[in-house]
Amino acid sequence: MIQMEKSATKALLETAEKSVLFTAHRPSVVMEKGKGMFLWDTDGNRYLDFVGGWAVASLGHSPAVLQEALSRQASTLVHASPGYYNKPMIEFAEMLTSVSGMDKAFFVSSGAEANESAIKLARKHGSVNLNGAYEIITLTNSFHGRSLAMMSATGKAKWKDLYAPKVEGFKHVPINDLDACFAAVTNNTCAIMVELVQGEGGVHSVDEAYLFGLRKICDMYGMLLIFDEIQTGMGRTGKLFAYEHYGIMPDVITLGKGIGAGFPLAAMLTKSKYDLFEPGDQGGTYTGAPLAMAAGNAVLQELLEQNLANNAKVQGQFLEGSLRDLSHEFPIANIRGKGLLLAFDVPENTADELAAICMREGLLINALNSSTIRLVPPLIVTQKDIDLMIFILRRSFRQLLAAK
Ligand code: PLP
Repeated sequence: MIQMEKSATKALLETAEKSVLFTAHRPSVVMEKGKGMFLWDTDGNRYLDFVGGWAVASLGHSPAVLQEALSRQASTLVHASPGYYNKPMIEFAEMLTSVSGMDKAFFVSSGAEANESAIKLARKHGSVNLNGAYEIITLTNSFHGRSLAMMSATGKAKWKDLYAPKVEGFKHVPINDLDACFAAVTNNTCAIMVELVQGEGGVHSVDEAYLFGLRKICDMYGMLLIFDEIQTGMGRTGKLFAYEHYGIMPDVITLGKGIGAGFPLAAMLTKSKYDLFEPGDQGGTYTGAPLAMAAGNAVLQELLEQNLANNAKVQGQFLEGSLRDLSHEFPIANIRGKGLLLAFDVPENTADELAAICMREGLLINALNSSTIRLVPPLIVTQKDIDLMIFILRRSFRQLLAAK
């Protein structure tokens, strides 16, 4: 029971410590409400959100279109069964394939599951068309999710020995090194999977020539080229899909995060010629569930109607320029990224402290590692929001440097 004499937040935090399994150091606040660019905690403090629900809240917090779509669908049909088609599933599959240049969609609830589906499809392709090839090449420093197979696909050094034994069949090669990728291909390779901008790995983009080379290698050997657009997709980088910056089409795309704008939703898209699953090969209780499909439909319609990919481009440029101005005053280096997936480096071991000061000052930013800050605000962000963000960041940098 929560004790009445303590402040409500303190009591909640004590209960959290007692009952929520520890998986991460979380700050001592309890988030209660969200609207647009802002979150509020249980003490009524307001935060300008440049973490964007971890690159999820594409339409801002609690967007009206999502509320309406969910309540409309919930009053009609929450869940039928993965064994039946439903109307929002068909509509969403149609809309998503037509805007992405793909032919077929499969729906799940998280990015890791979408990538698992892509890997299963690649291995199915290997077994049907490539004499049983099963290996997938991924990149060092990549991030593909937290299921066991996706932890094996992920190229994060820290995870190398975690939860051993790993799922076999993944080879990691350095980003933008075509020779290394070429050298890793064997008769057993069935696919190459890449993020076009490595989000969790530090916001590093693949080069155009490199991506072109990967496409060529895949075409040469009949392997699948998979783009993990879970973080870069749905307008985040200034185009609806990041591959549009490069003009290179994949065989499979995975989407997550912004596609549901906060509702758990992810997707794997592919071409008709890779429509290879047989009954029972792939599925899931919540695949294509009506509530999630209604959310996806509403979010995509809003993204397109408001042209939020273009807002990501315009505001991304403004944010980048504002950070460059600030870098003349403070130790900000290597500003990088695309659209509203941006990062910059700060002196070693100061990123966490800077993020903590910003939070006290009412701004949420993400310390990706000990020296990197990532900014992934909702795609509805305005110039006024960015001005406020820079104002708070400047004040926070002053405090950080004064304490040194
Ligand atoms: N792939 C990429 C590129 C991601 O950034 C993430 C999450 O950060 C994932 C996959 C995993 O998505 P989820 O956490 O929804 O399983």
